[in-house]
Amino acid sequence: MSTFKIGCHLSAAKGYLHMGEEALGINANTFQFFTRNPRGSKAKELIPSDVEALNVLMTENDFAPILAHAPYTLNPCSADERVREFAEIVMKDDLRILSSVTNSQYNFHPGSHVGQGIEKGIELIVSHLNQTITSETQTPVLIETMSGKGSEVGSRFEEIREIIDRVDHPEKFGVCMDSCHIFSAGYDIVNNLDGVIQEFDKVIGLERLKAIHLNDSKMPFNSKKDRHELIGKGLIGLDAIVAFINHPALRNLPFYLETPNDVEGYGEEIKLLRSHYRE
Ligand code: FE
Ligand code: FE
Ligand code: ZN
Repeated sequence: MSTFKIGCHLSAAKGYLHMGEEALGINANTFQFFTRNPRGSKAKELIPSDVEALNVLMTENDFAPILAHAPYTLNPCSADERVREFAEIVMKDDLRILSSVTNSQYNFHPGSHVGQGIEKGIELIVSHLNQTITSETQTPVLIETMSGKGSEVGSRFEEIREIIDRVDHPEKFGVCMDSCHIFSAGYDIVNNLDGVIQEFDKVIGLERLKAIHLNDSKMPFNSKKDRHELIGKGLIGLDAIVAFINHPALRNLPFYLETPNDVEGYGEEIKLLRSHYRE
């Protein structure tokens, strides 16, 4: 059994067991999926036998927790109250559904403050989370580190720390670090990975780090642009990515590829990364 937990983003269209089988087929031992389409329309209700079959597959094959990704169009800090209400409805529904998927985590984008300012954005996100995440919530909720494009909240570690500090149930929260996003946000994982990890630890705390989105970047360092690239084909590059997956603070976390790829291409990337992971 590999200690390297790596998978990729898969389509949930054919159900949960299908994703597990697809992951096994490309030598992955976890995966990510969207809870519903980006418009945030109704999530498919789970078929209990399908989820149970996936749970068995995951146990037998020593899978890391799978990562359910909220629709990226949700904006909990929109200036429009209806948009914020919609985010609340969707997130509550996602977490209700996920409570039966035992080995899972839930990832979301903090949102864009659309000109209201970071502080107002954080205030709205915190109030959203306090309406949504209760002492009953079973699935760990991960805040994703963002690139800072437009008016995105969460591109500075301090912003994520402030959100976690202000929620009613901080014990329910973790962080998902996206390698493309932090690079374009201005954290230099190419030349100073140790420094970035130390900074994360100082500001947020490494114990909060629960998952990694592993992507190369089409856009330069500190560009505040969010364009994922294939592993080794972007401006982060293969050497830095190899150092990243082997870093002592990161190497035991689950990695999820979100590169522009089909399943076969993901399989190739997983093969490449496994060949560079020091077991
Ligand atoms: Fe994301
Ligand atoms: Fe991501
Ligand atoms: Zn992205």
